[in-house]
Amino acid sequence: MSNAQEKKRIALFGSTGSIGTQALDVIRSHANLFEVEILTAQSNDSLLIEQALEFTPNAVVIGDEEKFEKVKNALSPKGIKVFAGIDALEEVADFDTYDIMLAAIVGFAGLTPTLKAVSKGKIVALANKETLVVAGDIVMKTALENRAPVIPVDSEHSAVFQCLLGEARNPIEKVILTASGGPFLGKKPNFLVNVKRDHALQHPNWSMGAKISVDSATLMNKGLEMIEARWLFNLRPDQIDVIIHPQSIIHSMVMFEDGSIKAQMGFPDMKLPIQYALGFPQRIQNDFPRFNFKKFNELTFEEPDYKTFRNLVLAIEAMQKGGNMPCVLNAANEIAVWAFLKNRIGFLDITAVVEKTLEKITFIQQPTLDDYFESDGEARNFAASLLRM
Ligand code: NAD
Ligand code: MG
Repeated sequence: MSNAQEKKRIALFGSTGSIGTQALDVIRSHANLFEVEILTAQSNDSLLIEQALEFTPNAVVIGDEEKFEKVKNALSPKGIKVFAGIDALEEVADFDTYDIMLAAIVGFAGLTPTLKAVSKGKIVALANKETLVVAGDIVMKTALENRAPVIPVDSEHSAVFQCLLGEARNPIEKVILTASGGPFLGKKPNFLVNVKRDHALQHPNWSMGAKISVDSATLMNKGLEMIEARWLFNLRPDQIDVIIHPQSIIHSMVMFEDGSIKAQMGFPDMKLPIQYALGFPQRIQNDFPRFNFKKFNELTFEEPDYKTFRNLVLAIEAMQKGGNMPCVLNAANEIAVWAFLKNRIGFLDITAVVEKTLEKITFIQQPTLDDYFESDGEARNFAASLLRM
Protein backbone atom coordinates (compact mmCIF):
# COMPACT_ATOMS: atom_id res chain seq x y z
CA MET A 1 0.00 0.00 0.00
CA SER A 2 2.90 2.34 0.66
CA ASN A 3 3.43 4.05 -2.70
CA ALA A 4 0.42 3.08 -4.71
CA GLN A 5 -1.95 4.97 -2.39
CA GLU A 6 -4.70 2.58 -3.32
CA LYS A 7 -7.20 3.27 -0.59
CA LYS A 8 -9.05 0.39 0.99
CA ARG A 9 -12.77 0.79 0.34
CA ILE A 10 -14.78 0.11 3.48
CA ALA A 11 -18.38 -1.13 3.70
CA LEU A 12 -19.42 -0.16 7.20
CA PHE A 13 -22.46 -2.13 8.31
CA GLY A 14 -23.90 -0.58 11.47
CA SER A 15 -22.24 2.81 11.03
CA THR A 16 -24.31 4.66 13.65
CA GLY A 17 -23.40 2.36 16.54
CA SER A 18 -20.59 2.41 19.04
CA ILE A 19 -18.24 0.40 16.82
CA GLY A 20 -19.47 2.15 13.66
CA THR A 21 -18.83 5.67 14.91
CA GLN A 22 -15.41 4.72 16.30
CA ALA A 23 -14.57 3.11 12.95
CA LEU A 24 -15.42 6.39 11.22
CA ASP A 25 -13.08 8.18 13.65
CA VAL A 26 -10.32 5.79 12.55
CA ILE A 27 -11.14 6.30 8.87
CA ARG A 28 -11.26 10.08 9.31
CA SER A 29 -7.81 10.03 10.94
CA HIS A 30 -6.38 7.94 8.10
CA ALA A 31 -8.10 9.34 5.04
CA ASN A 32 -4.97 8.51 3.05
CA LEU A 33 -5.53 4.78 3.69
CA PHE A 34 -9.31 4.30 3.72
CA GLU A 35 -12.44 5.50 2.01
CA VAL A 36 -16.07 4.70 2.73
CA GLU A 37 -18.02 2.80 0.10
CA ILE A 38 -21.17 1.79 2.02
CA LEU A 39 -22.83 2.92 5.24
CA THR A 40 -25.83 1.21 6.87
CA ALA A 41 -27.98 2.04 9.88
CA GLN A 42 -31.22 0.73 11.30
CA SER A 43 -33.08 3.79 12.56
CA ASN A 44 -30.81 6.77 13.23
CA ASP A 45 -31.51 8.60 9.98
CA SER A 46 -30.06 11.95 11.08
CA LEU A 47 -26.68 10.50 11.99
CA LEU A 48 -26.60 8.34 8.86
CA ILE A 49 -27.24 11.42 6.72
CA GLU A 50 -24.58 13.40 8.54
CA GLN A 51 -22.05 10.56 8.10
CA ALA A 52 -22.90 10.16 4.42
CA LEU A 53 -22.49 13.88 3.76
CA GLU A 54 -19.06 13.76 5.38
CA PHE A 55 -17.76 10.51 3.88
CA THR A 56 -19.67 10.47 0.53
CA PRO A 57 -20.14 6.71 0.15
CA ASN A 58 -21.43 5.13 -3.04
CA ALA A 59 -24.50 3.77 -1.21
CA VAL A 60 -26.32 3.81 2.11
CA VAL A 61 -29.00 1.58 3.62
CA ILE A 62 -31.54 2.75 6.17
CA GLY A 63 -33.22 -0.26 7.78
CA ASP A 64 -36.39 1.49 8.83
CA GLU A 65 -38.36 1.90 5.57
CA GLU A 66 -40.39 4.79 6.98
CA LYS A 67 -37.23 6.88 6.92
CA PHE A 68 -36.39 6.15 3.30
CA GLU A 69 -37.86 9.37 1.85
CA LYS A 70 -36.00 11.60 4.26
CA VAL A 71 -32.66 9.89 3.65
CA LYS A 72 -33.19 9.78 -0.09
CA ASN A 73 -34.09 13.47 -0.27
CA ALA A 74 -30.96 14.37 1.65
CA LEU A 75 -28.48 12.14 -0.20
CA SER A 76 -29.73 11.50 -3.75
CA PRO A 77 -28.84 15.05 -4.88
CA LYS A 78 -25.25 14.25 -3.84
CA GLY A 79 -25.20 11.18 -6.08
CA ILE A 80 -25.38 8.73 -3.17
CA LYS A 81 -27.55 5.67 -3.77
CA VAL A 82 -30.12 5.11 -1.02
CA PHE A 83 -31.72 1.77 -0.16
CA ALA A 84 -34.12 0.77 2.60
CA GLY A 85 -35.26 -2.37 4.37
CA ILE A 86 -33.81 -5.61 5.57
CA ASP A 87 -33.19 -7.18 2.14
CA ALA A 88 -31.15 -4.17 1.03
CA LEU A 89 -28.38 -5.13 3.47
CA GLU A 90 -27.72 -8.32 1.57
CA GLU A 91 -28.07 -6.50 -1.74
CA VAL A 92 -25.35 -3.96 -0.98
CA ALA A 93 -23.16 -6.64 0.65
CA ASP A 94 -23.21 -8.20 -2.83
CA PHE A 95 -21.56 -5.11 -4.41
CA ASP A 96 -18.15 -5.65 -5.99
CA THR A 97 -17.04 -2.12 -5.16
CA TYR A 98 -15.76 -2.56 -1.61
CA ASP A 99 -12.66 -4.30 -0.24
CA ILE A 100 -13.48 -4.78 3.44
CA MET A 101 -16.79 -5.22 5.22
CA LEU A 102 -16.71 -4.00 8.78
CA ALA A 103 -19.54 -6.07 10.27
CA ALA A 104 -20.71 -3.86 13.14
CA ILE A 105 -24.44 -4.54 13.20
CA VAL A 106 -25.60 -5.84 16.58
CA GLY A 107 -27.31 -9.22 16.88
CA PHE A 108 -28.70 -11.85 14.52
CA ALA A 109 -29.47 -9.15 11.92
CA GLY A 110 -25.78 -9.08 11.02
CA LEU A 111 -25.67 -12.70 9.89
CA THR A 112 -27.09 -12.42 6.36
CA PRO A 113 -24.93 -9.54 5.07
CA THR A 114 -21.80 -11.01 6.67
CA LEU A 115 -22.46 -14.39 5.10
CA LYS A 116 -22.89 -12.67 1.75
CA ALA A 117 -19.54 -10.90 2.15
CA VAL A 118 -17.61 -14.09 2.98
CA SER A 119 -19.34 -15.96 0.16
CA LYS A 120 -17.92 -13.28 -2.17
CA GLY A 121 -14.43 -13.72 -0.73
CA LYS A 122 -14.38 -10.26 0.83
CA ILE A 123 -12.21 -9.38 3.78
CA VAL A 124 -14.51 -9.21 6.81
CA ALA A 125 -13.50 -7.24 9.89
CA LEU A 126 -15.88 -8.86 12.34
CA ALA A 127 -17.34 -7.04 15.34
CA ASN A 128 -20.75 -8.73 15.11
CA LYS A 129 -20.01 -11.75 17.33
CA GLU A 130 -23.62 -12.98 17.20
CA THR A 131 -22.99 -14.02 13.57
CA LEU A 132 -20.51 -16.65 14.74
CA VAL A 133 -22.52 -17.61 17.81
CA VAL A 134 -25.54 -18.39 15.64
CA ALA A 135 -23.94 -20.05 12.62
CA GLY A 136 -20.18 -20.08 13.15
CA ASP A 137 -19.70 -23.42 11.43
CA ILE A 138 -21.40 -22.29 8.23
CA VAL A 139 -19.87 -18.79 8.24
CA MET A 140 -16.30 -20.04 8.73
CA LYS A 141 -16.70 -22.88 6.23
CA THR A 142 -18.02 -20.42 3.64
CA ALA A 143 -15.15 -18.05 4.41
CA LEU A 144 -12.61 -20.85 4.00
CA GLU A 145 -14.13 -22.07 0.73
CA ASN A 146 -14.05 -18.56 -0.70
CA ARG A 147 -10.70 -17.53 0.82
CA ALA A 148 -12.35 -14.69 2.69
CA PRO A 149 -10.16 -13.55 5.60
CA VAL A 150 -12.16 -13.02 8.79
CA ILE A 151 -10.28 -10.57 11.02
CA PRO A 152 -11.71 -10.16 14.50
CA VAL A 153 -12.54 -6.74 15.90
CA ASP A 154 -13.74 -7.96 19.29
CA SER A 155 -10.80 -6.97 21.51
CA GLU A 156 -10.24 -10.45 23.01
CA HIS A 157 -10.25 -12.10 19.61
CA SER A 158 -8.07 -9.42 18.09
CA ALA A 159 -5.63 -10.19 20.91
CA VAL A 160 -5.69 -13.93 20.18
CA PHE A 161 -5.33 -13.25 16.45
CA GLN A 162 -2.27 -11.10 17.11
CA CYS A 163 -0.75 -13.73 19.44
CA LEU A 164 -1.14 -16.33 16.70
CA LEU A 165 0.81 -14.45 14.04
CA GLY A 166 3.91 -16.42 13.14
CA GLU A 167 2.57 -19.52 14.91
CA ALA A 168 0.77 -21.19 12.02
CA ARG A 169 2.52 -24.53 12.57
CA ASN A 170 2.27 -24.49 16.36
CA PRO A 171 -0.87 -26.01 17.83
CA ILE A 172 -2.73 -24.03 20.49
CA GLU A 173 -3.05 -25.66 23.91
CA LYS A 174 -5.43 -23.08 25.33
CA VAL A 175 -6.89 -19.70 24.63
CA ILE A 176 -7.45 -17.59 27.75
CA LEU A 177 -10.08 -14.91 27.27
CA THR A 178 -9.94 -12.08 29.76
CA ALA A 179 -13.11 -10.48 31.11
CA SER A 180 -13.40 -7.22 33.00
CA GLY A 181 -16.19 -8.70 35.12
CA GLY A 182 -18.48 -5.82 34.17
CA PRO A 183 -20.15 -3.31 36.50
CA PHE A 184 -21.40 -5.97 38.93
CA LEU A 185 -18.16 -7.79 39.63
CA GLY A 186 -18.27 -9.17 43.18
CA LYS A 187 -22.04 -8.64 43.53
CA LYS A 188 -24.41 -11.40 44.64
CA PRO A 189 -27.99 -12.29 43.57
CA ASN A 190 -29.54 -10.35 46.49
CA PHE A 191 -28.03 -7.21 44.94
CA LEU A 192 -28.57 -8.14 41.29
CA VAL A 193 -32.29 -8.76 41.76
CA ASN A 194 -32.82 -4.99 42.08
CA VAL A 195 -30.49 -3.85 39.30
CA LYS A 196 -32.02 -1.56 36.69
CA ARG A 197 -31.21 -0.66 33.11
CA ASP A 198 -29.18 2.48 33.78
CA HIS A 199 -27.03 0.75 36.33
CA ALA A 200 -26.26 -2.13 33.95
CA LEU A 201 -25.30 0.29 31.19
CA GLN A 202 -22.41 1.75 33.16
CA HIS A 203 -19.43 -0.34 32.21
CA PRO A 204 -16.23 0.41 34.11
CA ASN A 205 -13.72 0.18 31.23
CA TRP A 206 -15.55 0.33 27.89
CA SER A 207 -18.26 2.54 26.42
CA MET A 208 -20.39 0.32 24.18
CA GLY A 209 -23.85 -0.17 22.67
CA ALA A 210 -26.73 -1.03 25.01
CA LYS A 211 -27.02 -4.72 24.18
CA ILE A 212 -23.37 -5.62 24.65
CA SER A 213 -23.24 -3.50 27.82
CA VAL A 214 -25.99 -5.62 29.37
CA ASP A 215 -24.28 -8.77 28.08
CA SER A 216 -21.09 -7.64 29.78
CA ALA A 217 -22.96 -7.06 33.03
CA THR A 218 -24.50 -10.58 32.95
CA LEU A 219 -21.27 -12.19 31.63
CA MET A 220 -23.27 -13.51 28.68
CA ASN A 221 -20.86 -11.48 26.57
CA LYS A 222 -17.97 -13.69 27.68
CA GLY A 223 -20.00 -16.80 26.90
CA LEU A 224 -20.76 -15.47 23.42
CA GLU A 225 -17.06 -14.71 23.04
CA MET A 226 -16.09 -18.27 23.96
CA ILE A 227 -18.33 -19.52 21.16
CA GLU A 228 -16.96 -16.84 18.84
CA ALA A 229 -13.39 -17.94 19.67
CA ARG A 230 -14.25 -21.56 19.03
CA TRP A 231 -15.18 -20.85 15.43
CA LEU A 232 -12.62 -18.16 14.66
CA PHE A 233 -9.67 -20.25 15.82
CA ASN A 234 -11.04 -23.75 15.23
CA LEU A 235 -10.85 -24.79 18.90
CA ARG A 236 -12.49 -27.46 21.01
CA PRO A 237 -14.68 -26.04 23.80
CA ASP A 238 -12.28 -27.39 26.45
CA GLN A 239 -9.44 -25.32 24.99
CA ILE A 240 -11.12 -22.03 25.93
CA ASP A 241 -10.72 -20.57 29.42
CA VAL A 242 -12.06 -17.36 30.93
CA ILE A 243 -10.34 -15.32 33.61
CA ILE A 244 -11.58 -12.12 35.24
CA HIS A 245 -9.04 -9.31 34.81
CA PRO A 246 -10.72 -6.12 36.04
CA GLN A 247 -8.16 -3.67 34.62
CA SER A 248 -8.72 -4.85 31.00
CA ILE A 249 -5.07 -4.31 30.08
CA ILE A 250 -4.36 -7.85 28.90
CA HIS A 251 -6.92 -8.32 26.14
CA SER A 252 -6.46 -12.11 25.96
CA MET A 253 -3.78 -14.80 25.79
CA VAL A 254 -2.72 -17.93 23.96
CA MET A 255 -0.90 -20.82 25.63
CA PHE A 256 1.09 -23.06 23.29
CA GLU A 257 2.08 -26.70 23.71
CA ASP A 258 5.34 -25.82 25.44
CA GLY A 259 3.41 -23.95 28.14
CA SER A 260 4.59 -20.58 26.85
CA ILE A 261 1.92 -17.88 26.99
CA LYS A 262 1.61 -14.89 24.67
CA ALA A 263 -0.55 -11.94 25.69
CA GLN A 264 -1.63 -8.84 23.82
CA MET A 265 -1.90 -5.71 25.95
CA GLY A 266 -2.80 -2.06 25.87
CA PHE A 267 -5.32 0.41 27.20
CA PRO A 268 -8.92 -0.62 26.58
CA ASP A 269 -9.94 1.37 23.51
CA MET A 270 -11.93 -0.28 20.72
CA LYS A 271 -10.36 2.04 18.16
CA LEU A 272 -7.21 -0.04 18.44
CA PRO A 273 -8.68 -3.42 17.36
CA ILE A 274 -10.83 -1.62 14.78
CA GLN A 275 -7.80 0.10 13.24
CA TYR A 276 -5.79 -3.12 13.44
CA ALA A 277 -8.45 -5.08 11.55
CA LEU A 278 -8.85 -2.41 8.87
CA GLY A 279 -5.11 -1.93 8.45
CA PHE A 280 -4.07 -5.59 8.68
CA PRO A 281 -1.37 -6.73 8.06
CA GLN A 282 -0.01 -3.23 8.55
CA ARG A 283 0.05 -1.52 11.95
CA ILE A 284 -0.88 2.12 11.65
CA GLN A 285 0.90 4.76 13.69
CA ASN A 286 -1.37 6.73 16.03
CA ASP A 287 -1.19 9.00 19.04
CA PHE A 288 -3.42 6.99 21.39
CA PRO A 289 -2.20 7.05 25.03
CA ARG A 290 0.55 4.50 25.71
CA PHE A 291 0.39 2.01 28.57
CA ASN A 292 3.25 2.54 31.02
CA PHE A 293 4.19 -0.33 33.36
CA LYS A 294 5.84 2.05 35.80
CA LYS A 295 2.61 3.94 36.41
CA PHE A 296 0.36 0.88 36.70
CA ASN A 297 1.06 -0.96 39.88
CA GLU A 298 -1.00 -4.11 39.50
CA LEU A 299 -2.77 -6.39 37.11
CA THR A 300 -5.08 -8.84 38.89
CA PHE A 301 -6.87 -12.05 37.96
CA GLU A 302 -9.68 -14.05 39.52
CA GLU A 303 -12.02 -16.92 38.73
CA PRO A 304 -15.47 -15.92 37.40
CA ASP A 305 -18.34 -16.31 39.90
CA TYR A 306 -20.21 -19.01 37.97
CA LYS A 307 -22.82 -19.40 40.70
CA THR A 308 -23.95 -15.80 40.46
CA PHE A 309 -23.42 -15.13 36.76
CA ARG A 310 -25.21 -18.18 35.44
CA ASN A 311 -25.48 -16.87 31.89
CA LEU A 312 -21.85 -17.80 31.46
CA VAL A 313 -22.61 -21.39 32.46
CA LEU A 314 -25.59 -21.53 30.08
CA ALA A 315 -23.38 -20.31 27.24
CA ILE A 316 -20.68 -22.87 28.02
CA GLU A 317 -23.27 -25.66 28.11
CA ALA A 318 -24.73 -24.49 24.79
CA MET A 319 -21.24 -24.43 23.28
CA GLN A 320 -20.52 -27.95 24.52
CA LYS A 321 -23.82 -29.31 23.26
CA GLY A 322 -23.32 -27.53 19.93
CA GLY A 323 -25.77 -27.82 17.02
CA ASN A 324 -28.49 -25.18 17.19
CA MET A 325 -28.12 -24.56 20.94
CA PRO A 326 -25.85 -21.47 20.68
CA CYS A 327 -28.31 -20.04 18.14
CA VAL A 328 -31.18 -20.63 20.59
CA LEU A 329 -29.16 -19.15 23.44
CA ASN A 330 -28.46 -16.05 21.37
CA ALA A 331 -32.07 -15.56 20.29
CA ALA A 332 -33.44 -15.94 23.82
CA ASN A 333 -30.78 -13.60 25.12
CA GLU A 334 -31.55 -10.94 22.50
CA ILE A 335 -35.23 -11.00 23.52
CA ALA A 336 -34.46 -11.02 27.24
CA VAL A 337 -31.95 -8.16 27.00
CA TRP A 338 -34.41 -6.15 24.92
CA ALA A 339 -37.08 -6.70 27.61
CA PHE A 340 -34.64 -5.76 30.37
CA LEU A 341 -33.71 -2.55 28.53
CA LYS A 342 -37.43 -1.72 28.38
CA ASN A 343 -37.69 -2.34 32.14
CA ARG A 344 -40.09 -5.22 31.44
CA ILE A 345 -38.07 -7.85 33.32
CA GLY A 346 -35.43 -7.85 36.03
CA PHE A 347 -31.73 -8.52 35.64
CA LEU A 348 -31.88 -12.10 36.93
CA ASP A 349 -34.91 -12.87 34.73
CA ILE A 350 -32.59 -12.65 31.73
CA THR A 351 -31.01 -15.93 32.81
CA ALA A 352 -34.39 -17.52 33.48
CA VAL A 353 -35.65 -16.67 29.98
CA VAL A 354 -32.50 -18.06 28.34
CA GLU A 355 -32.53 -21.23 30.43
CA LYS A 356 -36.20 -22.03 29.80
CA THR A 357 -35.82 -21.38 26.09
CA LEU A 358 -32.82 -23.70 25.85
CA GLU A 359 -34.88 -26.43 27.53
CA LYS A 360 -37.83 -25.90 25.23
CA ILE A 361 -36.42 -25.75 21.69
CA THR A 362 -35.72 -29.04 19.92
CA PHE A 363 -32.05 -29.90 19.57
CA ILE A 364 -30.66 -30.20 16.05
CA GLN A 365 -27.18 -31.70 15.82
CA GLN A 366 -26.16 -30.53 12.35
CA PRO A 367 -28.32 -27.56 11.43
CA THR A 368 -28.56 -26.13 7.94
CA LEU A 369 -28.76 -22.36 7.49
CA ASP A 370 -32.54 -22.70 7.23
CA ASP A 371 -32.54 -24.65 10.49
CA TYR A 372 -30.68 -21.80 12.16
CA PHE A 373 -33.25 -19.28 10.93
CA GLU A 374 -36.06 -21.53 12.15
CA SER A 375 -34.45 -22.13 15.55
CA ASP A 376 -33.86 -18.40 15.92
CA GLY A 377 -37.53 -17.67 15.17
CA GLU A 378 -38.85 -20.40 17.46
CA ALA A 379 -36.58 -19.34 20.29
CA ARG A 380 -37.61 -15.70 19.91
CA ASN A 381 -41.29 -16.58 19.95
CA PHE A 382 -40.94 -18.80 22.99
CA ALA A 383 -38.78 -16.31 24.88
CA ALA A 384 -41.29 -13.56 24.09
CA SER A 385 -44.11 -15.74 25.43
CA LEU A 386 -42.22 -15.94 28.75
CA LEU A 387 -42.08 -12.18 29.10
CA ARG A 388 -45.57 -11.98 30.53
CA MET A 389 -44.05 -12.78 33.90
P1 NAD B 1 -24.77 -0.49 18.78
O1 NAD B 1 -26.09 -0.86 19.30
O2 NAD B 1 -24.09 0.72 19.32
O3 NAD B 1 -24.86 -0.30 17.19
C1 NAD B 1 -25.48 -1.25 16.40
C2 NAD B 1 -25.50 -0.83 14.93
O4 NAD B 1 -26.25 -1.82 14.21
C3 NAD B 1 -26.20 0.51 14.68
O5 NAD B 1 -25.58 1.16 13.59
C4 NAD B 1 -27.62 0.10 14.27
O6 NAD B 1 -28.24 1.00 13.40
C5 NAD B 1 -27.40 -1.22 13.58
N1 NAD B 1 -28.52 -2.15 13.77
C6 NAD B 1 -29.14 -2.45 14.95
N2 NAD B 1 -30.14 -3.33 14.73
C7 NAD B 1 -30.15 -3.58 13.40
C8 NAD B 1 -30.97 -4.39 12.56
N3 NAD B 1 -31.98 -5.12 13.06
N4 NAD B 1 -30.71 -4.41 11.25
C9 NAD B 1 -29.70 -3.68 10.73
N5 NAD B 1 -28.89 -2.89 11.47
C10 NAD B 1 -29.12 -2.84 12.79
O7 NAD B 1 -23.84 -1.78 18.93
P2 NAD B 1 -22.25 -1.83 19.13
O8 NAD B 1 -21.93 -1.71 20.56
O9 NAD B 1 -21.60 -0.95 18.14
O10 NAD B 1 -21.97 -3.35 18.75
C11 NAD B 1 -21.99 -3.82 17.42
C12 NAD B 1 -21.47 -5.25 17.39
O11 NAD B 1 -20.09 -5.23 17.78
C13 NAD B 1 -22.16 -6.18 18.38
O12 NAD B 1 -22.27 -7.46 17.82
C14 NAD B 1 -21.23 -6.21 19.56
O13 NAD B 1 -21.30 -7.42 20.29
C15 NAD B 1 -19.88 -6.08 18.89
N6 NAD B 1 -18.84 -5.50 19.75
C16 NAD B 1 -19.00 -4.24 20.23
C17 NAD B 1 -18.03 -3.68 21.06
C18 NAD B 1 -18.16 -2.27 21.56
O14 NAD B 1 -17.23 -1.78 22.21
N7 NAD B 1 -19.24 -1.57 21.32
C19 NAD B 1 -16.91 -4.43 21.40
C20 NAD B 1 -16.78 -5.73 20.89
C21 NAD B 1 -17.75 -6.24 20.06
MG1 MG C 1 -15.00 -8.37 23.69
